[in-house]
Amino acid sequence: MNIILLGPPGAGKGTQASRLEAERGMAQLSTGDMLRAAVKAGTPTGIKAKAVMDAGELVSDDIVSGIIGERLDMADTAKGAIFDGYPRTAAQAELLDALLAERGRKLDYVIELVVDEDALVERITGRFTCANCGTGYHDKFKLPKVEGTCDVCGSHDFKRRPDDNEETVRTRMAEYRAKTAPILPLYEARGLVRRVDGMADMDEVGAQIAAILDGQ
Ligand code: ADP
Ligand code: AMP
Repeated sequence: MNIILLGPPGAGKGTQASRLEAERGMAQLSTGDMLRAAVKAGTPTGIKAKAVMDAGELVSDDIVSGIIGERLDMADTAKGAIFDGYPRTAAQAELLDALLAERGRKLDYVIELVVDEDALVERITGRFTCANCGTGYHDKFKLPKVEGTCDVCGSHDFKRRPDDNEETVRTRMAEYRAKTAPILPLYEARGLVRRVDGMADMDEVGAQIAAILDGQ
């Protein structure tokens, strides 16, 4: 099964993709995570992408589709791919169809996480992750069980994204509205879109997604 999680920055795509990875053995394909890894490693792609990401704008369609294509060839996607943060433009949506078709695969669902825009700045400015294992947290909605200690790996080291500030978030939302939201009708016409209430708590959102994947 191959699915897209679609929604504005902070909608909860990464949170739900990690759950699906843990619960169903599907692979999370987050272009944001892959680009941040390229920036950290100082690869030519990372060097090109850094300024664009810091500004909250979109990296080129060719770059992100190239990394998705390479990622789809890895064995861990055999049980299914969860596209998180990709596609973000109509051109990427077309490229994704081609990448899947070349590999004899297809899209099963596009799951839209529907959220109030007002809530997103708070979600994003409160977001932090474990610097060791990448588990996601939030200052208000998901603190580690023991203060300062990662629930999963016990690390005491946490980090925040440089682009998770209020000013950049506004640009990222504008990019979502202008370039990403318009791809929904394209998928709607193909009967692929399912909606979940992204304002519900994380477990409830997970349950709504599970019901869709299990055909209930
Ligand atoms: P995205 O990948 O769509 O940008 P994330 O999954 O990183 O969003 O979620 C953004 C922040 O909001 C994270 O800190 C996460 O812990 C928190 N979060 C995710 N889902 C919910 C939810 N349903 N309710 C409250 N907070 C949430
Ligand atoms: P994310 O982790 O999904 O919030 O993405 C962080 C940043 O990476 C975005 O603001 C973009 O600059 C870049 N990015 C991630 N995915 C894409 C994509 N599919 N297309 C273009 N840019 C992307």
